Amino acid sequence: MNKIIIHWTAGTGVPNSVDLKHYHFLIDKYGRINNGIFKPEDNENCYDGKYAAHTGGGNTGAIGVAMCGMCGYSSPDKIGSYPINKVQCEATFMTVAKLAKKYNINIDDKHIMTHYEFGKNNPKTSSAGKIDIVYLPPYPDVKQNQIGDFIRNKVKWYAQRL
Ligand SMILES: [Zn+2]
Repeated sequence: MNKIIIHWTAGTGVPNSVDLKHYHFLIDKYGRINNGIFKPEDNENCYDGKYAAHTGGGNTGAIGVAMCGMCGYSSPDKIGSYPINKVQCEATFMTVAKLAKKYNINIDDKHIMTHYEFGKNNPKTSSAGKIDIVYLPPYPDVKQNQIGDFIRNKVKWYAQRL
């Protein structure tokens, strides 16, 4: 495994059966970590159809971690009825730190990114234009293009304490 891509599900605060197929780990609104149907190692080879399809054009070698929520989000003024929360964010950052350690993945923008960042950096993939994650409800002052660095700093903080 060589990278970790962080998402929101665009669903409710708990995973549904479709979400469980598309991500390896899903952090629900209680901060609980739900294992998806596929393991990270299933994404080493995506040609057999048995893998978590979380990032169009970037699934191979990529661990998909998703925060459950953000159904109905359209802008910072209209975040819908299922905003991701602080407990959930922190549990996600810690989960990413643990995965980075387990798989020996560097905590930098080449290896740990949001789906939004992946889409921006890979404009010819179907991930282009993805909005997860352009807004973190518990941290409303963090601007869209700062969120990746904000998350990586949080992940580093947890990684130093593992
Ligand atoms: Zn996504």
